[in-house]
Formats: sequence, C-alpha cells, structure tokens
Amino acid sequence: MIPIIKPSLDEREAEAASRVILSGWITQGPEVASFEREFAEMVAAPHACAVSNCTTALHLALLAAGVHAGDEVVTVSHSYIATANSIRYCGAVPVFVDIEPATFNIDPHLAEAAITDKTRAILCVHQVGMPCDLASLVPIAERHGLHLIEDAACAAGSEILWNGQWERIGKPHGDAACFSFHPRKLVSTGDGGMITTRHKDWDKQFRLWRQHAMSVPDTVRHSSNEVIFETYPELGFNYRMTDIQAAVGREQLKKLPGIVARRRELASRYSSLLADVPGLITPVEPEWARSNWQSYCVRLPKSCDQKQTMQTLLDRGISTRRGIMCAHREPAYRQQPWRSLGSLRVSEQAQETATILPLYNELSLADQEYIAEQLRAAVLAQTPCEVSA
Ligand SMILES: *Cc1c(COP(=O)(O)O)cnc(C)c1O
Repeated sequence: MIPIIKPSLDEREAEAASRVILSGWITQGPEVASFEREFAEMVAAPHACAVSNCTTALHLALLAAGVHAGDEVVTVSHSYIATANSIRYCGAVPVFVDIEPATFNIDPHLAEAAITDKTRAILCVHQVGMPCDLASLVPIAERHGLHLIEDAACAAGSEILWNGQWERIGKPHGDAACFSFHPRKLVSTGDGGMITTRHKDWDKQFRLWRQHAMSVPDTVRHSSNEVIFETYPELGFNYRMTDIQAAVGREQLKKLPGIVARRRELASRYSSLLADVPGLITPVEPEWARSNWQSYCVRLPKSCDQKQTMQTLLDRGISTRRGIMCAHREPAYRQQPWRSLGSLRVSEQAQETATILPLYNELSLADQEYIAEQLRAAVLAQTPCEVSA
C-alpha cells in the first residue's frame, strides 16, 4: 500500500523528546524559546511565538488585528475548516470569496471587492503550500487600512519572489503568519503552531494570551530568588506548546531544507510523468512562487468521477485524498452567519475535481511511475472515445 504521506521522524526526534522528558521541565520553557528563535531565523521574521496549533495561532492573530463580534473578515471557503472557524471564535463573520483556478488561492480582485466598512482584516491562505498572491494582497490591505493575516499552516519552507529576492513565507509579508505542525504538514511536532509577526507589541500580546495573560511567566518565577505573585489582568487562553514538542520541532527544522528539495524534485517528476494524460490538469507554480509541495494536487478531467477514480486507485494499493474542502458546504456553516461575494463555483469545482497524490521523501521512482500509470488507466477508462483518440 502506498500511503498519502509519511512523516520524516526518526531516532533524532525520539532522542530530543527523551532528553526533554528526563530534564524535568516539560512544558513551555527553554526548548520552546529555542524553537522560536530558530524558526524566526529560518523565515527571517523579527518575532515568532509558539502556540498549541495553527487554529489557536489564527485565533490570536485575529484578536491582535482587532477582530471582534460583528466584524467581517475576508477569506476563502476553500480551505481546511480551521481557517473560517478561527474567524467565528472572534464572533466575527467570514466573508468568503472565490479562488483562482490555477493556484487554488484567493483571488485578490474578489478580496478587494468584498471589503465593506465592517471589514477588519483579510485572512489569506497559502493553500497546500502554494504561496498566494501577496504582491497584490499587501497593497490592497494597505489601501483599505486593514490587517493582513496569512494562514501559512502548510507553507513552512515555501518561498515568494519579493522585490527581486526569494523570501520565505512567514517573514511575514502581511502583519502576521500562522503555521501548523500537524503531521500532515512538512514540519511536525504531533500538534503545534507558530505565529510570526512584524509587530513587537503583537508578539508581546501573543505571549500573554497563550498563558492565560499571566503577568509573570512561570519560567521567571522559577528562577527568581524572591517570592513573586502573578496576576491575570485580562482574559487569556491555554494555548501553550510543550517543551517536548518544541524539541521535536527543532530536529524537524534541521531537516526542512532537505524535505523541501526532495518534494520539489518529486513534484516536478509527477508533472512530467502525467503530462500526457488526456484532460488531466497538473498543478503549476506562478513564476514568483516556489511551493514546498505540501500536497501535489491534480484536477481530474470533467468526464471522470472523483470518488470512482480514487476507489480504483485504492483498489490498486494507492492512497489518495479528495481536494481541499469548502467550509460553506459543511453542516456547521448551514445556520451560521457568513456571506460570500458572488458564487463560490471555482472553489466547489476544485473540491469536486482535485485529487491529492501520495508524496513523501522515500517515495521511489518505481512507485511514482506505478501511480502515474494507474491514474492514467483510471482516467482513460472513464474517457469517451473521441477525447482519448
Ligand atoms: C492544517 C491547517 C490548519 C489547522 O492547523 P492545526 O495546527 O491543525 O490547527 C489551518 N489552516 C490550514 C490551511 C491548514 O491546512
């Protein structure tokens, strides 16, 4: 059976976790601080704050952007549901706009058209690791006096061409960028998240909020010669990362450049192996983007049934996944306040036709050829004769 993904975890992560467990300090402490420093350095961000996952990262970033009950946040429905949910946690209304068919990412023109006097922020997504069009979105946010938050859950190691230089996603190019360390992403700590920001005061606020807004952190009290009583001046959360997770994350960060290079090689090989499958659309990178290829997502021809194609591949030992979901189609959004600017047809079509193929470091050339062969056969079996001819 060829799985969809295999995390790159080995003895190095196991030893790091064991070292922390035996150290006696296992939650947010020195390892978290080191992981934050190393992550900030990797993406060239002035500040990085570790949290429990990307969903809580998004929640805090939106709160820092001043998103409150009744406000609107412009975003995409075509994303993992966490994106839209984080807006609802603030009591705000997600305003969904459609995506660009080539990149699965937010259409900047639609994002601008959706702005009203209730809009507080734009929450853009670098979907499956493909950078979204920040060069268009940053000036739109500036023009309208809005904060730009980047959902970079999948985008650790992705790059964008910015003023003639390749820069990592997370610098950040907007006000803040939120990363996930779930096992489906390139860097994993089991669960975990990171917020990078350009604003010193936001970073300070994130550090308070993630620990119930405790005035003096436990690390400070622990190393003090004097008795200190902490206070809780505002409502905060428990969004901490543990030191065990951070130690694993530090090992994963060392591997990231190699993981990205390997995935880019595998993605380009898929694109050549699949180039002549009739009607199949392989993903493309705009010339200003370098994806980390968190997912390699093809679009099936109109004549193909998505579920049947995926079942055929599963029967032949190949695990695939459906394209990214659309939050507005889920029961959890049936009654909830959200609105959309026009139709979300491109998003819905992407969900219905996109199929994610297996991609992980040890995927062999032979397996990749087998996957391409089986996908070709499955597509041809459903293709009317005049198209295949
Ligand atoms: C995975 C993912 C999230 C949620 O990340 P968690 O760390 O699981 O909370 C949010 N947004 C996108 C686009 C994702 O892919």
